[in-house]
Amino acid sequence: MSRTILSLHAHPDDESSKGAGTVAKLIDEGARAVLVTATGGEAGEILNPAMDRPEVVNRLAEVRAGELAQAAKIIGYSTVEMLGYRDSGMPESPDNARREAFCNQDLEDVLERVVEIVRRERPSVVLGYDDHEFYPHPDHLRVHDLTVQIADAAADPHRFPDAGDPWTISKVYAPVFTSERITALHQAMLEHTGESPFAGWLDRLDRYAVPERRTMRCDVTGYVDQGREALRAHRTQVDPDGFWFKVPTTVVESVYPWEDFELIHTNVPWTEGEADLFTGIDR
Ligand SMILES: [Zn+2]
Repeated sequence: MSRTILSLHAHPDDESSKGAGTVAKLIDEGARAVLVTATGGEAGEILNPAMDRPEVVNRLAEVRAGELAQAAKIIGYSTVEMLGYRDSGMPESPDNARREAFCNQDLEDVLERVVEIVRRERPSVVLGYDDHEFYPHPDHLRVHDLTVQIADAAADPHRFPDAGDPWTISKVYAPVFTSERITALHQAMLEHTGESPFAGWLDRLDRYAVPERRTMRCDVTGYVDQGREALRAHRTQVDPDGFWFKVPTTVVESVYPWEDFELIHTNVPWTEGEADLFTGIDR
């Protein structure tokens, strides 16, 4: 079996906030992981007051590439490929209208580039995005478009014949936040401190409900801190005292020690209660 995972993300920092503990754990267990990041994150707002300085702002793409390299190393990725598209920013923003923005590229051209990487790296599992209706960033929606097409495109000998020999990806998953996770952490924080960073989320919990979805939970006990350390490497984007770190690791690991994934595509039989991205893949 090719125990290779390929993660496809929109911006530097997404690899650390979505499924990082699972990837770190699988690498620890012998898997190889390849990170593909579509944009340089040039339109990201600096969310860490300590980094909001002209010498950082003026060379944000370069700074973010350095942060990405450091985060990828912490998680354990063996390869990082940046596709080099420009961050599209949010709809209606000037960044969104720029010709070099990721969202303004021909999808077929982008798909061919990702197919070429897949055929070269030969992952059995690809991680991408679900439909992202609760966070409709144009770059995330683009990654979703690639996610739903990548398995068929990479395996089809008639598509992109110049991009290498066809390769069959066994499973495609998307990391997801579930309402169950939010509710469990919210309750635990109320019990521990009387305050919860998820208080504002409760009226939109239905967006995170996953009925009908084929989801898989990976136990990341012992890997939560590694994911957080990777996220902290994104010093311009992540306030070290901010939202992501409000729930202590001990609380996460005692009430909801899992990362959740939605199955987007599979070539192998799927069984309820899969505990590993590689479950069912035997070649
Ligand atoms: Zn992003």
